[in-house]
Amino acid sequence: MDIRTIIRDVPDFPKKGIIFKDITPLLADPAAFAGVIDDLAQRYEDAPFDKIVAIESRGFIFGAALAYRLKKGFVPVRKPGKLPAETIRQTYTLEYGEDTLEMHKDAIEPGEGVLILDDLLATGGTLEATANLVEQLGGRVHEIVTLIELTFLNGRARIAPYSYHTCVQF
Ligand code: AMP
Repeated sequence: MDIRTIIRDVPDFPKKGIIFKDITPLLADPAAFAGVIDDLAQRYEDAPFDKIVAIESRGFIFGAALAYRLKKGFVPVRKPGKLPAETIRQTYTLEYGEDTLEMHKDAIEPGEGVLILDDLLATGGTLEATANLVEQLGGRVHEIVTLIELTFLNGRARIAPYSYHTCVQF
């Protein structure tokens, strides 16, 4: 199945000029959702990493399913103020302004291998900040993976130091 056909374009969301890639039709389709997780599970079956680090909130959906399937630990990266215990934080620049992400300080042991997962690569700021969080704790980034890459934003350049894989490109 070509999952490109089941990802819905929503124009002008969350603001004018943005074409939002809506993955909810994919999630609602049992064959499509399972197909994505199966393909990723096959890719990472014997890969040398310990934990999947996924980003709030759509990254959680795929990250948790894949972590269960591969029998890996799951680590959430969240917006500020959401995680209850002691955190580390990384601030990163957006087109206009900046944003911050947090991870629990004890979420990763030094030397652990990590797969970073999110739904979509746009400018790459979110994934670059997440890789920085992993490395602050002494983790090793095995690879960064997304469902969708928006190639025209060239987010790949921002995460160039890392291995990167995507399921589909637009
Ligand atoms: P960026 O940091 O620019 O790579 O943005 C990536 C984050 O923003 C991801 O967590 C995406 O969920 C979200 N995002 C950015 N652009 C879009 C888009 N056109 N459609 C859906 N989500 C997007």
